[in-house]
Amino acid sequence: MPHILIVEDEAAIADTLIFALQGEGFSTTWLSLGQAALEHQRATPADLIILDIGLPDISGFETCKQLRRFSEVPVMFLSARDGEIDRVVGLEIGADDYVVKPFSPREVAARVKAILKRMGPRAIAEPASALFVVDAERVQISYRNQPLSLTRHEFRLLQCLLEQPERVFSREQLLDALGVAADAGYERSIDSHIKSVRAKLRLVAATAEPIQTHRGLGYSYSPSHS
Ligand code: CA
Repeated sequence: MPHILIVEDEAAIADTLIFALQGEGFSTTWLSLGQAALEHQRATPADLIILDIGLPDISGFETCKQLRRFSEVPVMFLSARDGEIDRVVGLEIGADDYVVKPFSPREVAARVKAILKRMGPRAIAEPASALFVVDAERVQISYRNQPLSLTRHEFRLLQCLLEQPERVFSREQLLDALGVAADAGYERSIDSHIKSVRAKLRLVAATAEPIQTHRGLGYSYSPSHS
């Protein structure tokens, strides 16, 4: 579930946003100060930040500028009036979108969805390329710059998960990826391959859980747990 940080000093506006975003299945945190938002983002990064420009402490512009020193999180500005922000300035300091008050909370939620969808490939490309490097020709995967010693099945399994971060693959689909016919006996073998891949990943990073188990469904690769 994507997490949205709302930085807005007017409670009524924040409330309508929280309502609309939660209705779309997002989880939310609401803060009213720019400085608090920066601290929050350092400690527990949100997937997207909705940032009011007129905040009581530091402006949304300044908040965004400081944010960009350590985070590439998508930012959507809330502007009190048309003309307060021009698109060029907003984009120059690293915003991804902006809306002018009064806005329709549902429209904001729809735009948040669109940004996250658009960001998908970037979010995947950045952490994934840093954390995992797949060399299909050599049948080799590196994790945190360390080459993994994988069997052919393990390689194919991990490659399949890495190609579509956050997608939950059923055991049957993973068997398919291995080119093995799906039947009851083989589905268990996916579990043992996964177990073995996890053990090898743990040798590199003991506490990370890049492969997530979804009970009754299957497995996914989660960059945020890597
Ligand atoms: Ca304000």
